[in-house]
Amino acid sequence: MTALAAARLGFRTLVLTPEVDSCASAVASRTIVAAYDDPQALKAMAEAADVVTFEFENVPAQVMERLRKLNAAVAPGPLALAMAQDRVEEKTFLNGCGAPTVGFVAVESAEDVSAGLDKLGAPALLKTRREGYDGKGQTWVESHADAAAAFARIGGRPAILEARADFVRELSIIAARGRDGEVASYPLAENHHERGVLRRSIAPAQVSRAVSDQAQTIAARILTKLDYVGVMGVELFELKDGRLLVNEFAPRVHNSGHWTLDGCEVDQFEQHVRAVAGWPLGPTRPLAHVEMENLLGHEADDWARLAAEPDARVWLYGKGEARPGRKMGHVNRLRPLG
Ligand code: AMP
Repeated sequence: MTALAAARLGFRTLVLTPEVDSCASAVASRTIVAAYDDPQALKAMAEAADVVTFEFENVPAQVMERLRKLNAAVAPGPLALAMAQDRVEEKTFLNGCGAPTVGFVAVESAEDVSAGLDKLGAPALLKTRREGYDGKGQTWVESHADAAAAFARIGGRPAILEARADFVRELSIIAARGRDGEVASYPLAENHHERGVLRRSIAPAQVSRAVSDQAQTIAARILTKLDYVGVMGVELFELKDGRLLVNEFAPRVHNSGHWTLDGCEVDQFEQHVRAVAGWPLGPTRPLAHVEMENLLGHEADDWARLAAEPDARVWLYGKGEARPGRKMGHVNRLRPLG
């Protein structure tokens, strides 16, 4: 979807992917199939591209460093990627820039889990520090008696233990920062997860002015502190008293921003391309109320029925195998604002 947006603005896209037949390749000008850290591939990329970006946060941060050393204009920078790849670094950074989070402790052993429960209370959520997403690599720790088993359940890897967020809703804000430091954010989305995976986003979310202002302030602090260029998704917990906590940020276009494809004049993908290419940012106001539903696994096989709904826009990603729970596409259901 980023490559499609780039094409619309007259750019050509070169994709570096370890996947043969990736869905981005189908809509890009050129593809290099290689590991992200393949030296020759990175050299070719740096020579060919005016700007290099990424849409997957597990691209090693060192890869972006290496591209920068090869004089490629990289955006977002490696710092944002490094922060987002380690949950302890991320939460430490967030608290340091005035973006509140749940209480947490870094964990290296079952004993640390037990000590963490004393500090944070039970139940608490144990997550691997690195490479967890969509609820993978996490487990609830119910009590001290469960500490050792919980640590084993996540593979005995370096982890973070998080206090339970007593939230009433999950929200997110998609924000962009341009090369000139301008920040623009979209209206908030309300997100519903099933088994750790985003099921549905409703946007613009019905929120008070105070909540929306808080979200914008939080996003602007994060983007500015990281000297960020591009689009970022910030996942938020809304507490009963209206305060927001940051769960995590994704240094890329975000699933909860897919509603903007049909709900805004300039969607998050075009916004990202504009930002990294040094263009002015586009307008972020909503044109419609959108309910975005992810099509997981074989749900995408239902495309004909979905496409027949007059107010639905179907997006299919062209991914090969429809494994259970795999995000194969999404549908945006539109209704007028107000
Ligand atoms: P994450 O992988 O961090 O995005 O977490 C996946 C989902 O788990 C979130 O969308 C929340 O629904 C839930 N979750 C994550 N962290 C917490 C927490 N500290 N307290 C309660 N629920 C959480």
